[in-house]
Amino acid sequence: MTHLELRNITKAFGGFEVIRGVDLAVNKGEFLVFVGPSGCGKSTMLRMIAGLETITGGQLVIDGAVMNDEAPVKRGVAMVFQSYALYPNMSVRQNLAFGLEQARMPKPEIRERVEAAAETLKITPLLDRRPGALSGGQSQRVAIGRAIVRDPDLFLFDEPLSNLDAELRVHMRVELKALHARLGRTMIYVTHDQTEAMTMADRIVVFRDGQIEQIGSPLELYNSPVNRFVAGFIGSPQMNFLPLHRNARGRLQVDGGAELDLDPPASGDAILGLRPELAELCEPGAGFLDGRILTVEHLGGESFIHLQPADHGAEPLVIKVIGQTTARAGDLAGVTAPMHQVYLFDAATDRCLM
Ligand code: ATP
Repeated sequence: MTHLELRNITKAFGGFEVIRGVDLAVNKGEFLVFVGPSGCGKSTMLRMIAGLETITGGQLVIDGAVMNDEAPVKRGVAMVFQSYALYPNMSVRQNLAFGLEQARMPKPEIRERVEAAAETLKITPLLDRRPGALSGGQSQRVAIGRAIVRDPDLFLFDEPLSNLDAELRVHMRVELKALHARLGRTMIYVTHDQTEAMTMADRIVVFRDGQIEQIGSPLELYNSPVNRFVAGFIGSPQMNFLPLHRNARGRLQVDGGAELDLDPPASGDAILGLRPELAELCEPGAGFLDGRILTVEHLGGESFIHLQPADHGAEPLVIKVIGQTTARAGDLAGVTAPMHQVYLFDAATDRCLM
């Protein structure tokens, strides 16, 4: 069932269009993640849904009703900000209750909701503290609690974990997913962290320059990116891209390397897309490319090998090895990969060819 629909939404600031015709249907109970580079319009889109930003064109439809000009409180949404936006002079309890008091909810119900939210988020012992006496992770829980007490149908999260340290971010990511499962509410989550997107989303929406590039489940985007932009955005470390040219025989060849056994349905130059986890080292001359190892990063359970192709114009490649490797900086090595698992992009349009 569709909960939220964006129909040809546009947004201009002073004549400059930052959202350029976005169409999107969000299902009830879905966890949707907006990703894209800085400035692509993710936050602006979220703020328009929340009612914190006017909509220049198109229709915002919630539960079948056009909501473009409805006040934020009428939309059944609650937003959690990156900055937490807590009131410093109020206790945690007062911060949680504030919105409900403004809405003139009866006091016993406010108390009940505040205590239930505190229980859910495990912040009951903090209820009488001020925000200044909370850690970043605790503050973020309070900010989420302020949304929960309102019992919205739709939660909007704007990079809620980006101010937390790496370990806490992983922990909160798991907790937020558990919260989603428990509450069963629709959630839209903005991040530029592709790991958060991959691990949390039912579907990911990839934005670029105010437009949607692709929508799909994490694995759909990982396996079948429509273009080089999406391919480079989904997956960590990032997909390697190697320029290919047509040789005298009309076959695709790595610049400064071997001819490839690939037959794309297009005749121009192409870019090879190679996931670090699918590339392998081999003896020099045995793969489609030779290079020199620049550095080896040992993480214990996995290793990242950075290799400079012999053609010095090419960007270094990253090869991910499960477990530990004996490869060393300065070694000369070849690179190979199963040809049925590489990607080819049209050099002119960046479109995925195969
Ligand atoms: P980030 O990941 O850096 O937060 P974003 O994808 O969320 O980026 P937005 O904050 O939505 O991007 O900004 C989209 C574009 O709109 C940017 O070019 C930004 O400069 C512009 N913009 C946002 N708010 C305003 C405003 N109030 N007035 C003018 N331009 C704005």
